[in-house]
Amino acid sequence: MVMSKIVVVGSSNTDMVIKSEHLPAPGETILGGEFFMNPGGKGANQAVAAARLGGDVVFVAKVGDDIFGQEAVQGFREAGINTDYIATDPEQPSGVATIMVDNQGENCIAVASGANNALRPEDVDNAMEQIEGADVLLMQLETPIETVEYAAKLGHDKGKTVILNPAPAQVLSDELLARLDVITPNETEAEILTGTQVETLEDAQKAAQVLRERDVGTVIITLGAQGAFVLSDSFSGLVPVRKVNVVDTTAAGDTFNGALAVGMARGMDIEAAVAYANKAAAVSVTRMGAQASAPSLDEVEAED
Ligand code: ATP
Repeated sequence: MVMSKIVVVGSSNTDMVIKSEHLPAPGETILGGEFFMNPGGKGANQAVAAARLGGDVVFVAKVGDDIFGQEAVQGFREAGINTDYIATDPEQPSGVATIMVDNQGENCIAVASGANNALRPEDVDNAMEQIEGADVLLMQLETPIETVEYAAKLGHDKGKTVILNPAPAQVLSDELLARLDVITPNETEAEILTGTQVETLEDAQKAAQVLRERDVGTVIITLGAQGAFVLSDSFSGLVPVRKVNVVDTTAAGDTFNGALAVGMARGMDIEAAVAYANKAAAVSVTRMGAQASAPSLDEVEAED
């Protein structure tokens, strides 16, 4: 199989989750919850998803000089990710998300980005050689926008396939959009980026058109259980996903993006790469967890 080299520039967090009967009101203390600690962060989730599918992944990120950062890096190594470009910030703590979930699945989340906010263009420069040797550069929006803009320009100038998962959503500059080969918003993110509410396929087509007019190469709007809508030079339309028993959709979008990067790095055409990403994300929603639910290459190939 062709090895696909992917550089992910993005965030790493530790998710601290407490599941309790109801969410505490301000000032209230609730006893009796269950605690889980999971590796997370969109950059990390996408890097792990790509590595599980056999991608040769380099992760450019920043953690703090603490146990959370050390454990996260250890987990990336175990997943076969090149961690040489994960810097340790001596002043900032590692990124942490505290998540409270109730029995109905309603949640409340506070994120302290910590070292993720200290990821700078210089950190991207340090990985220049890796970017030059890569097929795909994959990014999200949980690190400073100047770093994302810098990496996108570098990847674009070097002729790499630049993919941006614009999550969490924010308005983006024309310069950044014009340097993207692929953008992958979900429905809400597409609405924030374009001002077009996305409920139907026609809406998705309209929103995608707005982004294409701002010079993005290919627009992929993920549509949950429907699959993903694609607008590109060579293909336009819905790429459906198979029906599955949903257990937990956490990080479905991250698995989708990691797999999309692998598919594109392997030279699949856009329709095939999106079908591949759908297939991997559909497996991930059938089980619990973020990084823990990303499927292996064998599992995705077994779907054929
Ligand atoms: P999340 O925030 O949960 O990570 P998202 O909102 O970023 O997800 P979605 O559009 O909900 O992104 O889902 C991403 C992809 O995951 C979809 O395009 C599809 O491939 C897969 N997926 C999500 N939900 C389902 C589902 N119920 N059944 C099958 N596949 C799904």
